[in-house]
Amino acid sequence: MVAAPDPANTIDGIGLTSPRSREALVELLHDQGITDLRVLDALRQVPRHIFVEEALAHRAYENTALPIGYRQTISQPYMVGLMTQLLLEQREDVAPPEQVLEIGTGSGYQTAVLALLVPQVYSIERIAALKRRARRCLQRMEVHNISLRHGDGHEGWATKAPFDAIIATAAAAATPKPLMDQLAEGGRLVIPEHSEQGGDEQVLCVYDKQDGICQRHEVETVRFVPMRSGIEQSR
Ligand code: SAH
Repeated sequence: MVAAPDPANTIDGIGLTSPRSREALVELLHDQGITDLRVLDALRQVPRHIFVEEALAHRAYENTALPIGYRQTISQPYMVGLMTQLLLEQREDVAPPEQVLEIGTGSGYQTAVLALLVPQVYSIERIAALKRRARRCLQRMEVHNISLRHGDGHEGWATKAPFDAIIATAAAAATPKPLMDQLAEGGRLVIPEHSEQGGDEQVLCVYDKQDGICQRHEVETVRFVPMRSGIEQSR
Protein backbone atom coordinates (compact mmCIF):
# COMPACT_ATOMS: atom_id res chain seq x y z
CA MET A 1 0.00 0.00 0.00
CA VAL A 2 1.23 3.47 -0.83
CA ALA A 3 0.92 6.02 1.98
CA ALA A 4 -0.73 9.35 1.14
CA PRO A 5 1.94 12.00 0.72
CA ASP A 6 2.46 14.12 3.80
CA PRO A 7 2.33 17.77 2.64
CA ALA A 8 5.37 18.56 4.77
CA ASN A 9 7.39 15.80 3.10
CA THR A 10 6.23 16.88 -0.32
CA ILE A 11 7.53 20.33 0.42
CA ASP A 12 10.74 18.83 1.77
CA GLY A 13 11.18 17.38 -1.67
CA ILE A 14 11.56 20.88 -3.09
CA GLY A 15 14.17 21.54 -0.44
CA LEU A 16 12.72 24.77 0.89
CA THR A 17 11.78 23.34 4.26
CA SER A 18 14.65 20.88 4.32
CA PRO A 19 17.05 20.45 7.25
CA ARG A 20 19.54 22.48 5.21
CA SER A 21 17.36 25.61 5.11
CA ARG A 22 16.64 25.21 8.84
CA GLU A 23 20.36 24.96 9.52
CA ALA A 24 21.04 28.09 7.46
CA LEU A 25 18.47 29.98 9.53
CA VAL A 26 20.03 28.76 12.79
CA GLU A 27 23.46 29.91 11.60
CA LEU A 28 22.08 33.33 10.70
CA LEU A 29 20.44 33.69 14.12
CA HIS A 30 23.68 32.69 15.80
CA ASP A 31 25.49 35.42 13.86
CA GLN A 32 22.82 37.89 14.97
CA GLY A 33 23.45 37.17 18.66
CA ILE A 34 21.36 34.15 19.56
CA THR A 35 24.20 32.26 21.21
CA ASP A 36 22.40 30.05 23.76
CA LEU A 37 22.95 26.58 22.32
CA ARG A 38 19.78 25.18 23.92
CA VAL A 39 17.74 27.86 22.17
CA LEU A 40 19.47 27.30 18.83
CA ASP A 41 18.85 23.60 19.17
CA ALA A 42 15.14 24.12 19.85
CA LEU A 43 14.90 26.44 16.83
CA ARG A 44 16.58 23.75 14.75
CA GLN A 45 14.12 21.12 15.94
CA VAL A 46 10.79 22.90 15.60
CA PRO A 47 9.37 22.56 12.07
CA ARG A 48 8.24 26.18 11.54
CA HIS A 49 6.63 25.25 8.23
CA ILE A 50 3.81 23.41 9.95
CA PHE A 51 2.87 26.60 11.83
CA VAL A 52 2.39 28.72 8.70
CA GLU A 53 -0.21 28.43 5.96
CA GLU A 54 0.68 25.88 3.33
CA ALA A 55 1.02 28.55 0.64
CA LEU A 56 3.76 30.21 2.72
CA ALA A 57 5.54 27.04 3.84
CA HIS A 58 8.36 27.67 1.35
CA ARG A 59 9.15 30.88 3.26
CA ALA A 60 9.01 29.31 6.73
CA TYR A 61 12.81 29.36 7.21
CA GLU A 62 13.26 32.96 6.21
CA ASN A 63 14.02 35.24 9.12
CA THR A 64 10.74 37.15 8.79
CA ALA A 65 7.35 37.41 10.44
CA LEU A 66 4.61 35.93 8.22
CA PRO A 67 0.82 36.36 8.21
CA ILE A 68 -1.24 33.69 10.01
CA GLY A 69 -4.68 35.17 9.31
CA TYR A 70 -6.94 37.30 11.52
CA ARG A 71 -4.48 40.20 10.95
CA GLN A 72 -1.87 38.44 13.13
CA THR A 73 1.64 37.19 12.38
CA ILE A 74 3.95 34.37 13.38
CA SER A 75 6.91 36.09 15.06
CA GLN A 76 10.23 36.52 13.29
CA PRO A 77 12.58 33.63 14.24
CA TYR A 78 15.21 36.11 15.49
CA MET A 79 12.65 37.57 17.91
CA VAL A 80 11.59 34.10 19.10
CA GLY A 81 15.26 33.29 19.68
CA LEU A 82 16.00 36.55 21.46
CA MET A 83 12.98 36.41 23.77
CA THR A 84 13.54 32.74 24.59
CA GLN A 85 17.22 33.40 25.29
CA LEU A 86 16.27 36.25 27.64
CA LEU A 87 13.76 34.03 29.45
CA LEU A 88 16.30 31.26 30.00
CA GLU A 89 19.29 33.46 30.80
CA GLN A 90 21.11 32.01 33.79
CA ARG A 91 21.20 34.40 36.72
CA GLU A 92 22.86 34.06 40.08
CA ASP A 93 20.67 32.42 42.73
CA VAL A 94 17.79 31.91 40.29
CA ALA A 95 16.74 28.38 39.34
CA PRO A 96 15.90 27.64 35.68
CA PRO A 97 12.22 28.38 34.95
CA GLU A 98 9.80 25.46 35.27
CA GLN A 99 6.42 27.08 34.69
CA VAL A 100 6.19 29.59 31.86
CA LEU A 101 3.20 31.68 30.76
CA GLU A 102 2.92 33.00 27.21
CA ILE A 103 0.50 35.74 26.18
CA GLY A 104 -0.41 35.49 22.48
CA THR A 105 -0.25 31.86 21.31
CA GLY A 106 -0.83 32.89 17.69
CA SER A 107 0.45 30.07 15.49
CA GLY A 108 1.84 28.16 18.48
CA TYR A 109 5.42 28.34 17.16
CA GLN A 110 6.91 30.20 20.13
CA THR A 111 4.91 27.88 22.39
CA ALA A 112 6.50 24.85 20.72
CA VAL A 113 10.01 26.27 21.10
CA LEU A 114 9.39 26.89 24.80
CA ALA A 115 7.91 23.43 25.29
CA LEU A 116 11.22 21.88 24.25
CA LEU A 117 13.07 23.92 26.85
CA VAL A 118 10.94 24.11 29.99
CA PRO A 119 8.81 21.53 31.85
CA GLN A 120 5.41 23.28 31.56
CA VAL A 121 4.10 25.98 29.24
CA TYR A 122 0.78 27.82 29.63
CA SER A 123 -0.35 29.97 26.73
CA ILE A 124 -3.31 32.34 26.29
CA GLU A 125 -4.78 33.46 22.95
CA ARG A 126 -7.71 35.85 22.53
CA ILE A 127 -8.75 34.65 19.03
CA ALA A 128 -10.55 31.31 19.36
CA ALA A 129 -9.78 30.12 15.82
CA LEU A 130 -6.03 30.72 16.24
CA LYS A 131 -6.02 28.83 19.51
CA ARG A 132 -7.73 25.87 17.84
CA ARG A 133 -5.29 25.86 14.93
CA ALA A 134 -2.30 26.15 17.27
CA ARG A 135 -3.57 23.18 19.25
CA ARG A 136 -3.70 21.06 16.09
CA CYS A 137 -0.15 22.03 15.10
CA LEU A 138 1.18 21.29 18.59
CA GLN A 139 -0.57 17.92 18.62
CA ARG A 140 1.03 17.16 15.27
CA MET A 141 4.40 17.88 16.86
CA GLU A 142 3.47 15.60 19.75
CA VAL A 143 4.32 18.06 22.48
CA HIS A 144 2.20 17.51 25.56
CA ASN A 145 3.60 19.82 28.25
CA ILE A 146 1.41 22.70 27.05
CA SER A 147 -1.91 24.07 28.30
CA LEU A 148 -3.76 26.49 26.00
CA ARG A 149 -6.51 28.86 27.02
CA HIS A 150 -8.86 31.14 25.13
CA GLY A 151 -8.83 34.39 27.09
CA ASP A 152 -7.53 37.91 27.49
CA GLY A 153 -3.87 37.78 28.46
CA HIS A 154 -4.09 41.11 30.27
CA GLU A 155 -5.52 39.11 33.17
CA GLY A 156 -2.83 36.43 33.14
CA TRP A 157 -3.82 32.96 34.39
CA ALA A 158 -4.37 33.39 38.12
CA THR A 159 -5.20 29.77 38.96
CA LYS A 160 -1.86 28.54 37.56
CA ALA A 161 0.28 31.34 39.05
CA PRO A 162 2.97 31.98 40.07
CA PHE A 163 5.05 31.65 36.90
CA ASP A 164 8.84 31.51 36.85
CA ALA A 165 8.79 33.33 33.53
CA ILE A 166 6.22 35.19 31.43
CA ILE A 167 6.55 36.11 27.76
CA ALA A 168 4.18 38.33 25.79
CA THR A 169 4.28 38.19 22.00
CA ALA A 170 1.96 41.18 21.48
CA ALA A 171 2.85 44.76 22.43
CA ALA A 172 1.18 46.24 25.50
CA ALA A 173 0.51 49.93 26.09
CA ALA A 174 1.78 49.34 29.61
CA THR A 175 2.67 46.02 31.15
CA PRO A 176 -0.51 44.66 32.80
CA LYS A 177 -0.32 44.54 36.59
CA PRO A 178 -1.72 40.98 36.85
CA LEU A 179 1.30 39.74 34.89
CA MET A 180 3.68 41.39 37.34
CA ASP A 181 1.66 40.00 40.26
CA GLN A 182 1.66 36.47 38.81
CA LEU A 183 5.42 36.47 38.32
CA ALA A 184 7.25 34.38 40.95
CA GLU A 185 9.97 35.88 43.11
CA GLY A 186 13.18 35.75 41.05
CA GLY A 187 11.07 35.42 37.90
CA ARG A 188 11.48 37.23 34.61
CA LEU A 189 8.88 38.82 32.33
CA VAL A 190 9.74 39.65 28.71
CA ILE A 191 7.30 41.94 26.92
CA PRO A 192 7.22 44.47 24.08
CA GLU A 193 5.82 47.81 25.24
CA HIS A 194 4.62 50.76 23.19
CA SER A 195 6.95 53.67 23.69
CA GLU A 196 5.75 56.43 25.98
CA GLN A 197 6.34 58.94 23.17
CA GLY A 198 3.47 57.30 21.32
CA GLY A 199 3.58 56.47 17.62
CA ASP A 200 4.61 53.08 16.27
CA GLU A 201 7.73 52.74 18.36
CA GLN A 202 7.93 49.69 20.63
CA VAL A 203 10.66 48.52 22.93
CA LEU A 204 11.33 45.02 24.20
CA CYS A 205 11.39 45.12 28.02
CA VAL A 206 12.62 42.70 30.63
CA TYR A 207 11.27 42.80 34.19
CA ASP A 208 13.10 40.91 36.92
CA LYS A 209 11.21 40.42 40.17
CA GLN A 210 13.25 40.77 43.30
CA ASP A 211 11.90 41.30 46.82
CA GLY A 212 8.46 41.76 45.29
CA ILE A 213 9.58 44.57 42.99
CA CYS A 214 9.82 44.32 39.20
CA GLN A 215 12.98 45.98 37.88
CA ARG A 216 12.62 47.11 34.26
CA HIS A 217 15.34 46.98 31.57
CA GLU A 218 15.00 47.93 27.92
CA VAL A 219 16.57 45.61 25.34
CA GLU A 220 15.95 46.93 21.82
CA THR A 221 13.30 48.45 19.60
CA VAL A 222 10.92 45.90 18.13
CA ARG A 223 7.70 45.59 16.11
CA PHE A 224 4.84 43.42 17.31
CA VAL A 225 1.08 43.32 16.75
CA PRO A 226 -0.77 45.10 19.57
CA MET A 227 -2.09 43.40 22.68
CA ARG A 228 -5.86 43.88 22.49
CA SER A 229 -8.52 43.73 25.17
CA GLY A 230 -11.30 41.16 25.32
CA ILE A 231 -11.68 37.97 23.33
CA GLU A 232 -12.80 37.10 19.81
CA GLN A 233 -15.11 34.16 19.16
CA SER A 234 -14.14 33.74 15.51
CA ARG A 235 -15.27 30.58 13.77
N1 SAH B 1 3.93 33.81 19.37
C1 SAH B 1 3.05 33.96 18.25
C2 SAH B 1 2.85 35.42 17.94
C3 SAH B 1 1.53 35.69 17.35
S1 SAH B 1 1.16 37.40 17.16
C4 SAH B 1 3.61 33.25 17.03
O1 SAH B 1 4.83 33.21 16.88
O2 SAH B 1 2.85 32.77 16.22
C5 SAH B 1 0.49 37.81 18.73
C6 SAH B 1 -0.74 37.08 19.16
O3 SAH B 1 -1.20 37.71 20.36
C7 SAH B 1 -1.92 37.14 18.18
O4 SAH B 1 -2.32 35.86 17.88
C8 SAH B 1 -2.99 37.91 18.95
O5 SAH B 1 -4.30 37.47 18.66
C9 SAH B 1 -2.60 37.62 20.38
N2 SAH B 1 -3.10 38.58 21.36
C10 SAH B 1 -3.21 39.93 21.25
N3 SAH B 1 -3.71 40.45 22.37
C11 SAH B 1 -3.93 39.41 23.22
C12 SAH B 1 -4.47 39.31 24.53
N4 SAH B 1 -4.88 40.36 25.21
N5 SAH B 1 -4.55 38.08 25.08
C13 SAH B 1 -4.14 36.97 24.42
N6 SAH B 1 -3.63 37.01 23.17
C14 SAH B 1 -3.54 38.21 22.58
